[in-house]
Amino acid sequence: MKVFAANWKMNNAPADAAAFMRAFMDRYTRRQDRRVLFFPSDLSVHVVVSAVKERPDLEVGVQNIHWEDKGAFTGETSAPIARQAGARHALIGHSERRHVFGETDEETGLKVAAAARSGLTPMICVGETLEQREAGATIDVVARQLRAAVEKVEPSVIASAMLAYEPVWAIGTGRTATPADASEVHVALRAELRAICGERGAAVPILYGGSVNKSNVQALLSAEQIGGVLVGGASLEVDQWMAIVRAIPTEMP
Ligand code: PEP
Repeated sequence: MKVFAANWKMNNAPADAAAFMRAFMDRYTRRQDRRVLFFPSDLSVHVVVSAVKERPDLEVGVQNIHWEDKGAFTGETSAPIARQAGARHALIGHSERRHVFGETDEETGLKVAAAARSGLTPMICVGETLEQREAGATIDVVARQLRAAVEKVEPSVIASAMLAYEPVWAIGTGRTATPADASEVHVALRAELRAICGERGAAVPILYGGSVNKSNVQALLSAEQIGGVLVGGASLEVDQWMAIVRAIPTEMP
């Protein structure tokens, strides 16, 4: 089973999201070997949720949550609010949250716990900067981020979570990790997951993200331990997204 996740970031207002979903759903028929997830901006969540009501193969999440369930946090969305609005997933620790908004490892841990309390599946994002890669610290950095993200929850939460490896230098830059480079990190993350939650860690999907497009998706999906893709820019255009979700990896594990 491969996972294809669209992170729309701060794009696709409600009317645009509705038009996108109409065009997408006219052309995309369910396939048993893949799940397709959409992460719209908060105000478009309800539009996508209602568009996919009859389609269990299409799922919806939010791009961020606060770690508290409610209270005086103007401008924030909590996990219970997201869940009641129909979201089933939450991106946590996306690199733009970490690097644009200063989100810390500790906060990602609190957010994973908040997601779990409300029945949202966390998609935990980890990734190194270019500087960290060049210093040979990639595996240490992503392992530290993963450990911090799951510190406050039981192993059973992690076993039903998803992970996304997104090198910071590859997000929105047009630079993609080679399948071999990405795979090396995915193999290390898999080992880390097994260390955290035993054999159940073997089934946690680990997605790759960072300038994925219709030309490179196939090779990435065919690499060892790459269980799907998290796609930003290329998920905003229906034709490109259609080509991505229809990609057929050469080996489907
Ligand atoms: C992302 O936002 O998660 C992402 C990977 O963006 P892009 O595909 O545009 O690099």
